[in-house]
Amino acid sequence: MHHLKRRSISIVVMLASIAVLVIAIHSSIYAMEEKKKQQLELEREVFYEKQLDRICSCMSDLQEDVSEMEELENAIQKLMESEETQNMYNNLASASEYAVKLESESISQGEEDEQQAVSCLSEVQILVDNVLQRNSDIANQTREMQNLCVVNHEASRKLLQSFKMENIDESSELYERLATIILNVESFWKNSEEKLQEIIDKSEAFEKEILSKQSECDSVFEILSAFENRKEALNYKLSILWDEPREVEMDEDLKGYASVENYNVTAYCACYQCSGNNTLTASGTMPKEYRTMAASKNLPFGTVLYVPALKNTPSNGWYIVEDRGGAIKGNRLDLYMGSHSQALQFGRQTMEVYVFVK
Ligand SMILES: [Zn+2]
Repeated sequence: MHHLKRRSISIVVMLASIAVLVIAIHSSIYAMEEKKKQQLELEREVFYEKQLDRICSCMSDLQEDVSEMEELENAIQKLMESEETQNMYNNLASASEYAVKLESESISQGEEDEQQAVSCLSEVQILVDNVLQRNSDIANQTREMQNLCVVNHEASRKLLQSFKMENIDESSELYERLATIILNVESFWKNSEEKLQEIIDKSEAFEKEILSKQSECDSVFEILSAFENRKEALNYKLSILWDEPREVEMDEDLKGYASVENYNVTAYCACYQCSGNNTLTASGTMPKEYRTMAASKNLPFGTVLYVPALKNTPSNGWYIVEDRGGAIKGNRLDLYMGSHSQALQFGRQTMEVYVFVK
């Protein structure tokens, strides 16, 4: 009996020990799984904290970019208001003023104004080149920055997508934090791109304005070259007066510098029938064959004429308006000749005439 009792006790103890062991094993497996789960959570959190850090540092870089962007915006504004730009405008305005005066001035009056206009214009040319260069530097920097924005914009978009692909619970706090920051960054890039585009537009508009100033320069140059041509014509006139008439090799070369019109040309001489009792021209000069031309009041005394059809005469086709005539009106000219028979022989002809000095 005693023996039986002892045996049953040892069975109970044994069963109990087995039970304890099983429980122990179960709980330790559970603990291990829990630990593993916690470990994973921790790792994931560390990973996303790192991502957050990365985005945050990206945000602080953005702050620097913002200041660079403002610098560019200031740079273009400063350039537009710069002394250089103002000088450019002022010099061009002065050049135009001098040039406008030239149009109504005689050669001797105009020489000084011409010099002034030329020196203003050369200043303008230098300033235009400088301002254009600086403007395009700013535009290029802005474009570079805009490209950077586009690249970064794309990168943050991809980052957000990668969170989705990693199946992070979209309702989790972590996802929300990440997404908010990334969306902020994205909207920053978008705004920046727009702002940079504004700077680029501004710079392009400014460039257009400067180029339009350049075409204003061209019209001043045209006036100057017309004046130069008048000087040239005066030289011809002088050379005719000195009986050293110049030959014109290329009639076409002169066309750009003169007004070319058809005139109805007749001839006259010093005889009583042609000139009455007048021995001097209406301008007070001694009339001279191959120099003196009578014209209407549309052509002031001293106006130089070139008549290609008469280029084979001793004056090579060059004449000066020195006389008037009762019948000489509008597009009519009267050519002074040495004899009445010559004048009669000339008759009446329509000729192309280059008018130089008005
Ligand atoms: Zn006559």
